[in-house]
Amino acid sequence: MSTYDVIVIGTGAGGGTLARRLAPSGKRVLLLERGDWLPREPANWSARDVFIDNRYVSPDTWFDAEGKPFQPQVHYHVGGATKMYGAALYRLREEDFRELRHHDGISPAWPIGYDDLEPFYTEAERVYQVHGARGEDPTEPPASAPYPFPAVSHEPRIQQLADDLAAAGHHPFHAPCGVMLDESNMPYSRCVRCGSCDGFPCVVHAKSDAEVLGVRPALEHANVTLETNAEGVRLETDAAGSTVTGVVVRRGGNGTTETYTGDIVVVSCGAANSARLLLASASDAHPAGLANGSDQVGRNYMFHNSQAVLALSKDENPTVFQKTLGVNDFYFGDDEADYPLGNIQMVGKSVADMYRGEKPLQTRLAPQHSLEEIARHAIDFWLSTEDLPVADNRVTLNAGGQIRLSYTPTNDVPKQQLYHRLKGLLAHLGMDQRHLVPRHTYLKNEIPLAGVAHQAGTCRFGSDPATSVLDTDCRAHEVDNLYVVDTSFFPSIGAVNPALTAMANSLRVGDHLLERLR
Ligand SMILES: Cc1cc2nc3c(=O)[nH]c(=O)nc-3n(C[C@H](O)[C@H](O)[C@H](O)COP(=O)(O)OP(=O)(O)OC[C@H]3O[C@@H](n4cnc5c(N)ncnc54)[C@H](O)[C@@H]3O)c2cc1C
Ligand code: SF4
Repeated sequence: MSTYDVIVIGTGAGGGTLARRLAPSGKRVLLLERGDWLPREPANWSARDVFIDNRYVSPDTWFDAEGKPFQPQVHYHVGGATKMYGAALYRLREEDFRELRHHDGISPAWPIGYDDLEPFYTEAERVYQVHGARGEDPTEPPASAPYPFPAVSHEPRIQQLADDLAAAGHHPFHAPCGVMLDESNMPYSRCVRCGSCDGFPCVVHAKSDAEVLGVRPALEHANVTLETNAEGVRLETDAAGSTVTGVVVRRGGNGTTETYTGDIVVVSCGAANSARLLLASASDAHPAGLANGSDQVGRNYMFHNSQAVLALSKDENPTVFQKTLGVNDFYFGDDEADYPLGNIQMVGKSVADMYRGEKPLQTRLAPQHSLEEIARHAIDFWLSTEDLPVADNRVTLNAGGQIRLSYTPTNDVPKQQLYHRLKGLLAHLGMDQRHLVPRHTYLKNEIPLAGVAHQAGTCRFGSDPATSVLDTDCRAHEVDNLYVVDTSFFPSIGAVNPALTAMANSLRVGDHLLERLR
């Protein structure tokens, strides 16, 4: 008999949410997390520690297609990438579930429709305490319930931006935010509405991350066990290869391994690491990697065509919590582009220390006051254009079993067009119309390969085992008791942030597992 009913490998948006769903059932659930608890300490909110010293970026080395090593911006902690995320918790658009024609090709249909996921989106918004306002964004999909919490209010400069956008004929909306903010009762609000949210851990645990709202509530149940510093390195199967019989785990530091047994094994290590674990579990029954008879494991890696850009407001921008506004008027294109361009939203307010961290060589000699002047006037936007699933954009393993990431961008034209749409608006928005620079002028020109925050797509789900890794329940076609619930399962990524979709899908798969275990 297995020691556990379910073993979940990875505790981020996918795994942490699944754990919470399974916990009240009384089933024996083991959570395996390669990282540790992220320490709560003053440095959580220090831009210098977080952005210059990369204090919470986990040591790991990946390689690009040419074999050049780089350090991915990964966060191996209980809660995974959600410990650092901006908590913009969007639903995909209804159309994202259907085939969509893009500038560079087709974004494929999902094997389930928006309607299938809708109840779980509603549930995920409740679990992750999302604040928002329905009815403002013309592209928003139908919802069976209002947001559980009111929208986070705009600060005056962002309210001005919303008013100016509306006056220019656009439809700015209050961005959906996962922060435990009670603006009607600030003395009792857990969130203090600080300027260190997007990209920082929350020291007061008021961000709706997968540690605080997934793993910790799950651990209140005695039937749930968490092992930290426990990296899943290989899945063993029976001789036929149809059942996972053991999860081999490397314990932190000393390199010793242990093997755990569970009736059901759920992989949720993040898109690149989940592919790595399956590929590393090749055997006689699965010579190309576990569950990889379709040769799809690791392929179709996506991570959004993202641009963090900085405009200079003519007036100072004293905003503290900036991530309250979004614009989807270009999401599906416009009069001049009959293909999708993407989403515009705010990103956390930049401060001078970030610029030094983001482009240390170029800014090292710059006098601090000029960076501070820029920061005082900066309004920071995040533009996301969908990148398409491409078979050759993929994770493979090098001879040492490390991740090798090959990636050629798609949809560069709509990405540039989205940038120019925003730039064309600046004159109406009280901003210097000449100055919309990549924040990476102070950092780097693109979100580089190492910026893996929105990674997805390496184990896509589908109804055809020849072209997908997982079935519509996110169970491996070839292995009866193996599931994957992180963003790997995405057949396409849309142009809004991915976490809420992973959370909603985990609740959906969780219900399937509870039914199966009954
Ligand atoms: C700075 C930043 C900002 C972001 N902002 C947003 C946002 O505003 N909105 C949004 O929707 N998304 C945002 N994201 C993306 C979002 O966090 C991810 O899409 C989401 O967390 C993905 O969930 P996941 O379960 O696929 O992976 P993760 O959350 O990364 O979880 C994977 C987990 O698996 C663990 N793990 C990896 N390998 C192993 C192994 N072999 N054995 C055991 N454990 C393992 C990792 O340590 C980690 O805990 C942001 C991400 C970052 C980094
Ligand atoms: S804004 Fe709120 S949730 Fe975000 S880091 Fe600050 S206190 Fe935490």
